[in-house]
Amino acid sequence: MNPLNSFFTALYTMPLEQAALWSLLGNVVMFALALLAGEALVRRYHDKPNSPAPEPISRQEITLAVVCVLLNTLVAIVGIVLWRAEIIQLRPDGGLLATTVDVLVLIALMDFGMYVFHRMAHHPLLYPIIHLTHHLYENPRPLTLFVLNPFEVLGFGALLIVVIWLSHASQVAIVIYLAFNLIFGLVGHLGVEPAPEAWLKLPVIRTISTSTFHAGHHHDKAHNFGFYTVIWDRLFGTLSPEYTTDFERANGG
Ligand SMILES: [Zn+2]
Ligand SMILES: [Zn+2]
Repeated sequence: MNPLNSFFTALYTMPLEQAALWSLLGNVVMFALALLAGEALVRRYHDKPNSPAPEPISRQEITLAVVCVLLNTLVAIVGIVLWRAEIIQLRPDGGLLATTVDVLVLIALMDFGMYVFHRMAHHPLLYPIIHLTHHLYENPRPLTLFVLNPFEVLGFGALLIVVIWLSHASQVAIVIYLAFNLIFGLVGHLGVEPAPEAWLKLPVIRTISTSTFHAGHHHDKAHNFGFYTVIWDRLFGTLSPEYTTDFERANGG
């Protein structure tokens, strides 16, 4: 059995308090890695900005980010409890092809689900309650990925639990998906554009979102609601007409 599967087997049987501590550790490590990688990327691509420099970090941003990490831990614990109660049933590892399919299904379902939720979060009745907090920060930095209203964190967590419950994705697929989600969330909040100039000219590749795509949503709340792809914005007519120009400008064009 590979180390990841051994870890999941232990997670299934260990006392719940211990599983909760592992969840906290996992979330803190993801948070720290995101901030470190984010800082390195911001320095590496500082000559390709897609947003003005953010304001100095406020105490409120730090508090919200800490609350976000704690609530993500809570979501993980709820997921573990549901899995141990066999309400969530995960497929056993089925090799490379099966894992790839599982990851792609998770990405596709979450990409669509988050687009729908994000559009709903901009409805005037919901916006002040769940989403305005994230939009207080128009010029994102890596930390902004975690600067969310607590209801929004729980909403994302609930969506993810439902998607895992529906898809029965394997353990390794879930871990790969979580890494993928962290990378995309981080890239969207760098304030700089790591993608090369040719990105929007390449078939298929150009449907994958870029840093400038999500930065565009922070600057113009009526467009770019998607996360991993621009497919849903294209389909529902919410892709910013400025997207290509913004991307080329970030790339020095
Ligand atoms: Zn954002
Ligand atoms: Zn928004």
